[in-house]
Order: sequence, then C-alpha cells, then structure tokens
Amino acid sequence: VRLREAGEGEFLRRVREAAGRPGGSVLVGIGDDTAVLQGQGREERLLLKCDATVEGQHFRREWLTEAEIGARAVRRALSDIAAMGGRPAAILLTLLVSPDEDLEAATAIAAGAAAAGTEFGAPLAGGETVGTEGPLALDVVVAGFAPAGRELRRSGARPGEALLVSGALGASAAGLACLRCGLSAPAAHRAIARSKRPEPRLALGRMLRESGAVRAAIDLSDGLLRDAGHLADESGVRIEIDEARLPLSPDCREVAEALGASPLHWALAGGEDYELLFTADAESVPALIAQADREVGLSLTRIGAVTQGRGVFVARPDGGARTPTAEGWDQFTHDQG
Ligand SMILES: [Mg+2]
Repeated sequence: VRLREAGEGEFLRRVREAAGRPGGSVLVGIGDDTAVLQGQGREERLLLKCDATVEGQHFRREWLTEAEIGARAVRRALSDIAAMGGRPAAILLTLLVSPDEDLEAATAIAAGAAAAGTEFGAPLAGGETVGTEGPLALDVVVAGFAPAGRELRRSGARPGEALLVSGALGASAAGLACLRCGLSAPAAHRAIARSKRPEPRLALGRMLRESGAVRAAIDLSDGLLRDAGHLADESGVRIEIDEARLPLSPDCREVAEALGASPLHWALAGGEDYELLFTADAESVPALIAQADREVGLSLTRIGAVTQGRGVFVARPDGGARTPTAEGWDQFTHDQG
C-alpha cells in the first residue's frame, strides 16, 4: 500500500503507535499541535514543533519572494504555538537547497525566516543547511513555553462546551485559487496576501489560555472539517458545526463568485486559514467575544457545540446534514502544486 492510498491519517497512526506512549520529559507527544516537555522545577513547560514546506508542494517560487518563502515557513510553525496558548521562544531552520541556488536568494530566505521569528519574539537560534538536487525545502523547528498544566490541548474539549472560531474562513484557499488561475481584482489581491502571509494568532491563544474558560484549541491548517475532526478524536467527543454560522471571508465570497467556486467548500475544507478553533464554557462565550474584540482586535464566532459521541457533524441550513471527516487536507491523497 502506498502513502497515496493509505492517506496521511493512517501513516500518522502507525508512527504514533511506533513511538508509544509519551514518557520521561515528554508529557504530550504525537497528536497535538506541539509536543509538551516538562523541565525540572520549572513553572513553564517547553512546547516543540517542526513544520516543513517544500517547493512545488506548499509553494511555487514564482508566487513568493525569497523573503516571503522564509517568513511563511516560520509563520505557519508559530501558529502551532498559538494553538497551545504558548509564547514563542526560538526557531531553528533547516534549509535544503540546491548548490546552484543564488547566494543572495538563499540569504534572503533565511533572513525572511529570521525576521518573522523576531517579530513574534522567537529569534532564529540555529539550524542546518543541506545541499540537495531536490526541490527547495524548509524545515522550521519552533520552541515555545506555556505555564505548566495550562496549555490548550486538542484533548481538552468536553460535552456541553461551545465551539468557536477566530477571524474569517476561506480567504487563504481563495487566494491559492487566484494564484493558480491568475485572477486579478481587489478581493483576489487581498486573498492572495492572506495565502502568502499566515497570521499566527499568538495574542489570541494566550488570551484564551489566560481566560481559564478555554482548555482545547487547534489551529486551522488542514481545513475546518479535518481540524475539527482532530479535536473530536483527541477529546473523544462529537463536534457539531452549524454551517449557517460559519464566518465566511468576504474576499472568499467575492473570489468564489468570480470563479464559479463554492465559498463554503473553501471555508470548510480549503485549509491554511491559521485561525484558532477552540471550545469554551458556554456561559463564558459573550465575555470572550468582547475581550477578543477589545484586546486582540479579532472577531470570534460561535459556530457549534461539543456533544457526547464521536466525529464531526455539520448541520446544513436546509435541515440536512453531512458527516464529512474525509474532506479537508491530506498530505498524501491530494494532488497539489
Ligand atoms: Mg496545528
């Protein structure tokens, strides 16, 4: 069986099985947005994550400047620290690059990565360079900290809680579609900018953690449906999404109309929105929405609920339903580029 047929989920299940249960310093291993490590006598725990992007798979050279390639790789990785409610501390960059690459260009990639890390309090602290005849690839390791026991984990959702999402959905997927077809319009330019430059919701993640009303979160990298599925699986709950409540990005709607595409599909399965999906005590929702608007300048939308059971369930406005856990991003089963 090839990876393409098995899918990423099956592959990761096997890796997780091979890794065994976390032990020693590792409190949370494979399965969450980052690993969680316990130091000795520390009041904070170390969060660790690596995230790789490959030319042709995650980006095309003609779509991004060198600085944007580096920055994008780092901003994606930082989003996982945001999902844990953590504070970024440092990044490491492994760059796999052709010996024929232009020195200035390679430097600009690393400088773009370093600048993005510094912007969020995580200086480039080391890394590795590998000469390769393969495609350009960047592997970013990001380290952060969170107060012991207070990390927002995928496994923290409980029945009775409300499900919320930050910002608006679908713009990044719309931007990718614009890049592919060359659509040029104001909405297309905004969507493309969104796709090129993920916004790690670090301030929001910390606000949610400090609120005490939120214990479970995930960042939206694979698409709402798939990431909600991760949250449901790790928490052992059922997640019900009300399709009519989804905060579709206005740019996503406009681009979809121009291209004859479905904005809803982009919002549900497009991926790379890098907003936070989280669960909260139902009575705390109005206060969280007001606080996020005031302190972080972000809208929060209540889009569903956590109930007993398994999997993800989407209620449609017409009264129908779908159970779409197979949709969304999978590393091995989707054609890209
Ligand atoms: Mg993540």
